[in-house]
This record gives sequence, C-alpha cells and structure tokens, in this order.
Amino acid sequence: MQFNKVTDSIIKELQEIIGAANVVVDEEKMEMYSRDETSDKLWEKMPEVVIKPENAQQIAEIVKLANRELIPITPRGGGSGLAGGAVPMHGGMVLSLEKMNKIIEIDNENLFMVLEPGVTTGEVQKEAKVFNLFYAGDPCSAESSFIGGNVATNAGGNKAVKYGVTGRHVYGLEVVMPDGEIVTYGGKNVKDVTFYDMVHLMVGSEGTLGIITKIWLKLMPLPQYVADLLIPFPDMQSAIKVVPKIMTAGIIPTAVEFMDRISVLAAEQYLNKTLPYSQESGAYIICEVDGNTENQVQEDYETIGKLCMENGALEVFVADNISTQDRIWKSRKAYAEALRMISPVYCMEDIVVPISNIPAALDAIEKIAAKFECKIPSAGHAGDGNIHATILREDRDEHAWHDLKYAVLEEIYDAVYKLDGNLSGEHGIGAKRVSAMYKHMTEGQKKVLHTVKNAFDPNNIMNPGKVVLLGRIAE
Ligand SMILES: Cc1cc2nc3c(=O)[nH]c(=O)nc-3n(C[C@H](O)[C@H](O)[C@H](O)COP(=O)(O)OP(=O)(O)OC[C@H]3O[C@@H](n4cnc5c(N)ncnc54)[C@H](O)[C@@H]3O)c2cc1C
Repeated sequence: MQFNKVTDSIIKELQEIIGAANVVVDEEKMEMYSRDETSDKLWEKMPEVVIKPENAQQIAEIVKLANRELIPITPRGGGSGLAGGAVPMHGGMVLSLEKMNKIIEIDNENLFMVLEPGVTTGEVQKEAKVFNLFYAGDPCSAESSFIGGNVATNAGGNKAVKYGVTGRHVYGLEVVMPDGEIVTYGGKNVKDVTFYDMVHLMVGSEGTLGIITKIWLKLMPLPQYVADLLIPFPDMQSAIKVVPKIMTAGIIPTAVEFMDRISVLAAEQYLNKTLPYSQESGAYIICEVDGNTENQVQEDYETIGKLCMENGALEVFVADNISTQDRIWKSRKAYAEALRMISPVYCMEDIVVPISNIPAALDAIEKIAAKFECKIPSAGHAGDGNIHATILREDRDEHAWHDLKYAVLEEIYDAVYKLDGNLSGEHGIGAKRVSAMYKHMTEGQKKVLHTVKNAFDPNNIMNPGKVVLLGRIAE
C-alpha cells in the first residue's frame, strides 16, 4: 500500500491547525527526530515534517487530515526508545508530544496524577514525592523518556519486580483514535470492568493504535525506608544463580539488577568513579528493598546479604543513604551510555526468560559470543528475567557488522524461545524486531494482530511498519 507525500498545501493546512511555529520542515531542525536511541543507521529516517500540537483537538484534526491524504503519522515522546519505534520509517509526519507537558492534577484523596503525555518520567517521580507519594515506574531513561512513551511501550524498569511495569499504574487514558475520534477509557475507578479492557490494549501499543493525550496514573504512599545492596561475585554464573534463590526467599525486593564485568568496567570509566571489587569480580548484583519500618528493611537486606554470601559473593555492601545509593544506581543507569565508549555502534537486545532460566540464557549468550568471536556484554533486570545482551560492533566494517548482527541475533532468539522466553521484555518491537517477532509467531497470533490493527486503523496511517507489518494484511 502506497502513502502520499506531504505537499506544500498539506503543510499550509497543518500551519492553520497548530500555528506556523509548531510546524518544522527545516532539515537541520528535523534531524533529531530522524532517530531514537537505537544506535543503528538502519533505523534512521528523515521526517517530511515535524509537528508539535498543543492539545488533543489539534491532534484529532491532524489525524483526520492524515487519513484523508493517506500520510503516515509517527507519534514521538522523548525519543529514548531502543526499537526504532518513534522513527518515521515510511516518511510522513512525526508528531512530537513535547508541548503537551502539563501535570493537570495531583489528586491526594484518590491517589492519582492526571497528566499530559509529554511530562518526563523523572518529573512525575519528583512531583509525586513533593506530596509524599510515589510513582513506581522507574526506567533507567527516566530523565529523558516521557510518561506517554512509557505508557506506549509499557516500559519496565528497576522497580518492576515489586511494583510491576508501567501498565500496572495506568488506570485511564484519553486517546486520539486513528480516525480522529477522541475517546476516554477508564479514569479514577480502582476497579472497572465496564467494557473491554481498552486501557491495557492501548498500553504497549507503540503508537500503532492511537495517540495517547491524557493519562490517569495511580500513585502510592512513598515508602519511608530504602536500602540498596551492591554485591560483587567472582563470575557471572555464580552471581546469576543466586537470583532465583533471592526471589524465592519469602521477601519481595524492589529491584534485583545485574551487570557483567565489561559493563561494570565501562561504567567506572564513563563515570570516572571506582566501584568496590571491580577488578576482582566477574559480575555485580544490585538489590533494593523498601518498606515503612527500618527493622523490616534491615531484616530483608540481611536475608539477601546472607544468601549471597552463602552462594559465593565476594562481599555485600549496604547503601542506606542517598549519596551511596546514588553512586550504585548511577553506575547501573550509565552502563548503556558507557558501552558506547567501547563501541559507538551496538545492538542492544531485550530478551526475557522465566527467572529460573536466566543462568541458562546467559550461558547460551556466552557461547554465542565465543562462537562468533565478538563481545556481547549483558546487564539488566535479573529479578524479572529481562536481560539486555548488547552485541558490540567495535571496529568491524558495515558489511561484517551487518552479517555478524543478524547471525548472532538469530541464535540468541532461538536460544531464548527454547528457554520459554520472548524477544522483548520492555523495549518493544518497534521497527527493529518486527521480522524476528513474525518468525516466532503462530498463524493464530498473526491473525489476531492483523485483525485488531485493521479494525482500528484500516488505512494503516498510525505508525506504519511498527509491531504490525505494513499493508492491509488480514482482509
Ligand atoms: C539509557 C537508556 C535506558 C533505558 N532504560 C529503560 C528501562 O529501564 N526500561 C524500559 O522499559 N526502557 C528503557 N529504555 C528505553 C526507552 O527509554 C523506553 O522505551 C521509553 O518508554 C520510551 O519513552 P519515550 O518517551 O522516549 O518514547 P519514544 O522513544 O519517543 O517512543 C517510543 C514508542 O512510543 C510511541 N509513543 C510515544 N509517545 C506516544 C504517545 N503519546 N501516544 C502514542 N504513542 C506514543 C512511539 O511512536 C514509539 O513507538 C532505555 C533507553 C535508554 C536510552
């Protein structure tokens, strides 16, 4: 199916809808909208126009125009995605939500925040804290990603082990549907089964089923005590084998993260800070526990510390004040950026397996790295089985990199499916993983996916080529 080009008369119509200042056609200014954080030229494409609407009514008018003219629309949040989701792979308009960045309400009685999609995740966390409340969504990209992007990708993050991923905190959404209708699903009711669960069909739909323009986010009382543990192990297997033991010890940690040796050393160098045992250890486990009494938090971290020491840890470091906690989390959050110092181009994967299969998954990745003679550092959210295995390009030429990447990916995905896993735990499918996902889907699953997409977006204008393959597939 062919799309049309954005003509001068369409630009004029867009300027009439949102004002000339909110319509960008200058290539230099559009450059940052031609990519996300995927770090691969394959997933870059210059938009024909970037538009910055300020409210849902304007978006509705734009979507009607795009339908009439058959022009693709790619919604964009903070652009921190790692799957090429916000990149206009079929041209057309990039619709940036950056100007819809207001917190509309913090409702202390019902514990809700109602807000626009362009607020950064970090701002949501900070604002909730002012009221002694807590937003538990915590992606490592909190300072750059938008809450709308988090909802659209159903972002996971560091606290997902205890508090669940973004979708668990989303109770209502206002969405501009692909035909331009503005529809609200859910709201402040804590229980609500009066409909299909449209909120959670929209959550994680990666901009392919509509544009999220308002979000009802559940807040919680802020836990009063938090402690973090940094636990070096001599090697990766002994570190990772302790994770299922922690998870079945009768406590629910807030976070259980891991970093392998390459990631630890890269983070140290990037931050210019030394971490304990970084030279001797082969991997770190990072745990967080929280609660409302000091005793409970202490009991929980002592249980984890004892388990780790019994299972080969070199030491257990406890951080119970902001500055030491910050130091631990900075290294965990910076490792992805830090890897760019070793290899500016890389392919970060996001596989997920049942937690009891993490040791086997990491073993498989190590063997694949040895077979292809490449580096694949791993780090991630061990407590929920989500491993970011990152294939480094280093100094390979374009041709060698292309061949290596696809050969390695195929073997990693095959290994993951054999371990009852899946190919994305939190970053999503976007453009990057569509083909691989289709390879592993059943015919029944494909039919449902196409039927849903066609029912919502028969002209396929809404973020085409992402999640669902382009075209009117299921007639
Ligand atoms: C250093 C780093 C660390 C990261 N850590 C994590 C992590 O811990 N957990 C995690 O899950 N991810 C992580 N990510 C990936 C990324 O930050 C998340 O996927 C995030 O949710 C994307 O949000 P964004 O606002 O940047 O969205 P974008 O990248 O702009 O868009 C992502 C997708 O959402 C769609 N979209 C955006 N806004 C809307 C909207 N309002 N309506 C409809 N569709 C929309 C886009 O079309 C696109 O398909 C990390 C990325 C980086 C660079």
